[in-house]
Amino acid sequence: MDNRDDMYGLDAAIIMNPRVWQASGHVDTFTDPLVECEKCKRRFRADHLEDKEKCPECGGKLSAPRQFNMMFKTQVGAVEDSSGTAYLRPETAQGIFVNFKNIIDSFHPKLPFGIGQIGKAFRNEITPRDFIFRTREFEQMEIEYFFKSSDWEKHFESWRLEVWSFLKDLGFTEREVSELHVPAEDLAHYSKKTIDFEFNFPFGKSELLGMAYRTDYDLSQHMKESGIDLSYLDEETKEKFVPHVIEPSFGVDRLVLAILTHAYTEDEMGGEVRTYLKLPYVLAPVKVAVFPLLKNKPELVEKARGVYSQIKVQIPQAMWDDNGNIGKRYRRQDEIGTPFCVTVDFDTLEDDTVTLRDRDSGTQERVKISDLVSRIK
Ligand code: ATP
Repeated sequence: MDNRDDMYGLDAAIIMNPRVWQASGHVDTFTDPLVECEKCKRRFRADHLEDKEKCPECGGKLSAPRQFNMMFKTQVGAVEDSSGTAYLRPETAQGIFVNFKNIIDSFHPKLPFGIGQIGKAFRNEITPRDFIFRTREFEQMEIEYFFKSSDWEKHFESWRLEVWSFLKDLGFTEREVSELHVPAEDLAHYSKKTIDFEFNFPFGKSELLGMAYRTDYDLSQHMKESGIDLSYLDEETKEKFVPHVIEPSFGVDRLVLAILTHAYTEDEMGGEVRTYLKLPYVLAPVKVAVFPLLKNKPELVEKARGVYSQIKVQIPQAMWDDNGNIGKRYRRQDEIGTPFCVTVDFDTLEDDTVTLRDRDSGTQERVKISDLVSRIK
């Protein structure tokens, strides 16, 4: 977003006017088919079951499916009646559409341009499961990219490539992620083309993120419901029209799960099985850990503290650890994916060099303190 001149960011409300969700179609159609076991009373999503008749837990008979709306309801205002019913947003996208005019009026952007937002979304999932794959509260990153309808194929292809470039920056390849071009009969009512990017999770191939061509459906719906003109005036041609939109929609939690799954590695080191996270440097939450060889030698601790402070100024994601022996500290850092460990020992006091240990190979080398940051970054 920050690197592009054609993108704008915003932070919309989580609880918006409920008419937003009426206009978008969520109140009427944001549903999943729910079935209930007549014996054990457990509930399931019918479209996730292979056998639609039999309970997968106890074998009991399943009810006929009924549509269950996934939006969380709440009450706004002091009086508890249906006029105060509101919803927690089930996606961030609609917050972008209803703020479209704010962006147009304040920045006067020229088409094509995009609006992006990151934030919480809430869905009352019937069966939350698979760790953070499906939760009721999750984080989305969505972009709505607006353009003139005749250009849609060009923009769709360019965003498809952008999504791949993002995935590759996270360390994924075509081996782990594949495209599912959603067949016409399964498309959402507002979409003319949708690609699901699927990841090989340990529990099977499932949607990691989606990309949809939503036409002018959302802006047109909000225009109808609100009576406010959301069309765009092309200053050069004097044409006035409702822009069309492509939406890359990322689930942050699913991305994190995919990253953790992909990074999880077991190998053998020092005759033992070692478990570590092979996270790319950019994704590692801790980039470097600094240790004194022994924590009961004040001169070593003082020197190591100095090295740590020096590194932390330039690499804030540095961590101090003096617990347990060095071997245990290495393993702990391996498990959270720290790419480098720095050990300050008695030689450091003499020659200002430290041991720099590489997570993946386990190799250790002597490096001058003054060269540390450039070696790590
Ligand atoms: P699914 O079919 O798995 O329920 P969806 O097609 O309904 O997902 P979208 O509405 O396209 O999902 O939402 C966009 C993205 O938000 C998804 O690709 C996913 O990464 C994320 N997402 C959706 N629902 C959840 C959830 N319950 N928990 C975590 N992430 C979610």
